[in-house]
Amino acid sequence: MQRPKIIDIRATTVTVPLEAPLRHANGAHWGRFVRTIVEIETDTGLVGLGEMGGGGESAEAAFKALKPYLLGHDPFQLEAMRFKITNPTASLYNNRTQLHAALEFACLDIVGKTLGVPVYDLLGGKVRDEVPFASYLFFRHANQDTGEGEVRTADQLIAQALDLKNRHGFTTHKLKSGVFPPDYELDVFRALAKAVGTDSLRYDPNAAFSVEEALRFGRGIEDLNNDYFEDPTWGLNGMRRVRDGVRIPLATNTVVINFEQLAANILQPAVDVILLDTTFWGGIRPCIKAAGVCETFQLGIAIHSSGELGIQLSTMLHLGAILPNLVFKADAHYHHLTDDVIVGGKMRYEAGAIRVPSGPGLGVELDRDKLGTYADLYKRLGGYPYDRDPARPGWFPLLPNTRWADPSDTLPIRF
Ligand SMILES: [Mg+2]
Repeated sequence: MQRPKIIDIRATTVTVPLEAPLRHANGAHWGRFVRTIVEIETDTGLVGLGEMGGGGESAEAAFKALKPYLLGHDPFQLEAMRFKITNPTASLYNNRTQLHAALEFACLDIVGKTLGVPVYDLLGGKVRDEVPFASYLFFRHANQDTGEGEVRTADQLIAQALDLKNRHGFTTHKLKSGVFPPDYELDVFRALAKAVGTDSLRYDPNAAFSVEEALRFGRGIEDLNNDYFEDPTWGLNGMRRVRDGVRIPLATNTVVINFEQLAANILQPAVDVILLDTTFWGGIRPCIKAAGVCETFQLGIAIHSSGELGIQLSTMLHLGAILPNLVFKADAHYHHLTDDVIVGGKMRYEAGAIRVPSGPGLGVELDRDKLGTYADLYKRLGGYPYDRDPARPGWFPLLPNTRWADPSDTLPIRF
């Protein structure tokens, strides 16, 4: 076997439409995701695939700037790559964790393709063939072109949940929240719970509540079939206070996203379930390492979604296949997308789960036509500010927030 060497790194920003704009506590995804697709080419003729959230010229330039660091690098040398580009003290000056994640995905893809084995076999082997997912429900603005897809009322949210359950087989439902006043969302969430019967639930207001509001809301849903209460408030100390006063496990993807914070949470517990994100943690391998720590200390884990196309989704599937202690279903924004950039189009849910790709490496290939189409679409539409709401010009939230959206406001989006 000839050991590969990196000869090129390319980054392409794409934008893929969503069914409708997705609202959250900080603003919205404005009807599309922007992602950067990374390709690492080797002297053995292989191309490894990576993906990162966000994009544009700055992301493309950031990957280009790392080329001199990695030209000639052997993709099997993953630990060396970690220190080449994310040495912890050098990172005080240049945080490259998310860039590293995309490069790690691509290198693992190359290693798997070189050896002819899927990524899960490189990292411990799989203990399951498919990864179960929760439905990820959002309050949504109507699609600007069709006027369809608005989710604002309890009836609209229930319709969204039942439609997704019907089409994809979900039996767990997560509501991204923190958009409308807490009392309104409490009524809506309880109506949702009633409508989905014995299915389990997750409520995630992106840390928008004060500790007291989080306690009040948490006590208002304690009797429901909750998996956990996700990031009700900000910070380890705030979460610790909420945990002391609510009988629901707390989960986070905001205050435990690295090993220092994981250690702090073990020494002084604030959160019960850690949502592992292959990008936030810097790759698939750090997530496996963190899951091992959680296994030792009997903390729960789940898989976080920061918005994904098929390459990123594949990293979540390989991770999910490997982790023995994954008792909670994974999250994905994926079913809100209208298309993907991988060959074969969007991966499909069956009975609420997606099969883990079994081809060499990550097991997904780029559809070059789609890549071109969505790179062109990005050039036409550009980026969007994740932390602004297209229907609320001039608005920005406080933390804890008090500037909720008006649930009776059906004004058209002005963008
Ligand atoms: Mg979350």
